[in-house]
Amino acid sequence: MFIDTHCHLTFPEFDEDRATIICNAKKAGVKQFVIPGASIESSRKAVSFVQSFKAGPCFASVGCHPYETKNFPDVRQLEKMIDGNVIAIGECGLDYHAYKGFPAIGKKEEQKQLFEEQLRLAQKHHLPVIIHCREAYHEIFDVLDRLPSLPQGVFHCFSGGPDDVRHVLRRGFFFGIDGNVTYSKQLALTVPLIPLSKLLLETDAPYLPPVPHRGKRCEPKYIPLIAKKIAELKNCNVKNVEEQTTKNAQKLFGI
Ligand SMILES: [Zn+2]
Ligand SMILES: [Zn+2]
Repeated sequence: MFIDTHCHLTFPEFDEDRATIICNAKKAGVKQFVIPGASIESSRKAVSFVQSFKAGPCFASVGCHPYETKNFPDVRQLEKMIDGNVIAIGECGLDYHAYKGFPAIGKKEEQKQLFEEQLRLAQKHHLPVIIHCREAYHEIFDVLDRLPSLPQGVFHCFSGGPDDVRHVLRRGFFFGIDGNVTYSKQLALTVPLIPLSKLLLETDAPYLPPVPHRGKRCEPKYIPLIAKKIAELKNCNVKNVEEQTTKNAQKLFGI
């Protein structure tokens, strides 16, 4: 059994065929799903979505993405959503990649503040954190190291270099690996450096589809393609990748 530890099934891209998407994923062996919020609104949606299942194959995480900084979200709203179905805080973090419409410059301090508030929330409720990090690894390590104790969590959609791998490992975090592992030169270099006991599989659906589905909507059913590529890079069996990453997800998220 595979677990997709990061898929945005509540996003509008899946409004038309959400049930089919889950059904097709299950047929491909992907049986459980972690659905992270990226704003107050999408967190609320994730929580009510997972509640609609009885013995849920879906689990929610509540959090505000760094781009949400512009809307000045109130983290206390996230706290109110925490219940038995909420297994993590996130995605939250820092994104210093500035592109059209999202000028990160000048917002760095606000991003840090929002991130820190969510880290404190995770620690208060003994929940792991799902960290979104883009072009800000050192800043994230600084924020983490200033905390009285390190939280547990995952660097979702890991995209750092070999040096970042060492820093993440030293702090005991997991690495979320996505469909871009099927074509990224950087990940071909870094994935072999990460022990299997620290890897999680995720699609970040509807984003980041793996080869040969690039340019289309990404779905959780593509998780086995990510596992296959990791097995290739680490020179091991796909079954090992499946079993170990599932164990890792169960351990981190308590599912
Ligand atoms: Zn993200
Ligand atoms: Zn995401």
